Amino acid sequence: MYDVIIIGGGIVGISTAWQLQNRFPHKHIMVLEKEPHPAMHQTGHNSGVIHAGVYYQPGSLKADFCKRGAIQTISFCKEHDLPYQQCGKILVATNRLEYERMKVLEARCIQNGIEIRRLSGEELEKREPAISGVGALFVPATGITDYRKITEKLAELLVERGGKVRFGAEVKAIHEHRDTVDILSGSQTIKSRYVIACGGLMADRLARMMHIDIDFRIIPFRGEYYQLPAKHNKTFHHLIYPIPDPEMPFLGVHLTRMVDGSVTVGPNAVLGWKREGYGCLNLDL
Ligand SMILES: Cc1cc2nc3c(=O)[nH]c(=O)nc-3n(C[C@H](O)[C@H](O)[C@H](O)COP(=O)(O)OP(=O)(O)OC[C@H]3O[C@@H](n4cnc5c(N)ncnc54)[C@H](O)[C@@H]3O)c2cc1C
Repeated sequence: MYDVIIIGGGIVGISTAWQLQNRFPHKHIMVLEKEPHPAMHQTGHNSGVIHAGVYYQPGSLKADFCKRGAIQTISFCKEHDLPYQQCGKILVATNRLEYERMKVLEARCIQNGIEIRRLSGEELEKREPAISGVGALFVPATGITDYRKITEKLAELLVERGGKVRFGAEVKAIHEHRDTVDILSGSQTIKSRYVIACGGLMADRLARMMHIDIDFRIIPFRGEYYQLPAKHNKTFHHLIYPIPDPEMPFLGVHLTRMVDGSVTVGPNAVLGWKREGYGCLNLDL
């Protein structure tokens, strides 16, 4: 019998398990992950940006978590010798409308206690000769890292502390009883006192397995990235973002320096035919 079973070996599941194991060293905690390695979905397919918290509603949990999370992510990378760079980010306004939206973001950053500098078009060009705009916001705290490596390290620390991670262990059914939960994974039924679902893109399916009446369904959108030719690896000195359109739930296509020195441009947002499909022809009927 386990005390806590966590479903999902992305960064959310593994870090939740690690935090719980640190706080409750005598509890039996296990992560069940359907893939053969951690971080094979969103966590291993993102821009690798350590966000400073520019976009979030002041006073919200997101604003607070993002700011504290950025500090903790960098200190975790330092402590465990994981790659990171605090290269800063520049949000570029290319016309008057974006400039007005930029001022709203600037006010939000100030309310969130995030250090920013407003740049004129000329100052922007001095910092980034290949970029032009009518003005920009410079956010020095933003950084980059490799979230797959962070998750692998967290999994290693979890196991050192006595926790378990079982790979190739897809959860197929969940039955809740008065004091315990039965989790069917492969041909095995595992008993636990508590279950925490951290299934990323499968969140709605896991909720339905638990017979929870939910009012949402995940519609997959795929973000496509392109890698710039290596001759442009040193063309940009910061992460370059557009000023987001407040009507859209995306941050916009950005130029991202990766920790391996390459530069990507993306992501767009294309309706996907498969939840965890990363090629444009992946289908799941
Ligand atoms: C295109 C894109 C770019 C992004 N860029 C950034 C960025 O630059 N910086 C940033 O901070 N965030 C970024 N994000 C967000 C970030 O990637 C996610 O918030 C984060 O990775 C979510 O982690 P997770 O553990 O919840 O999900 P996931 O990493 O998807 O993990 C969920 C895990 O659950 C497992 N699972 C699901 N169902 C089952 C089951 N039935 N049984 C067993 N296991 C199961 C899956 O196999 C998977 O490993 C980006 C997201 C996207 C889509």
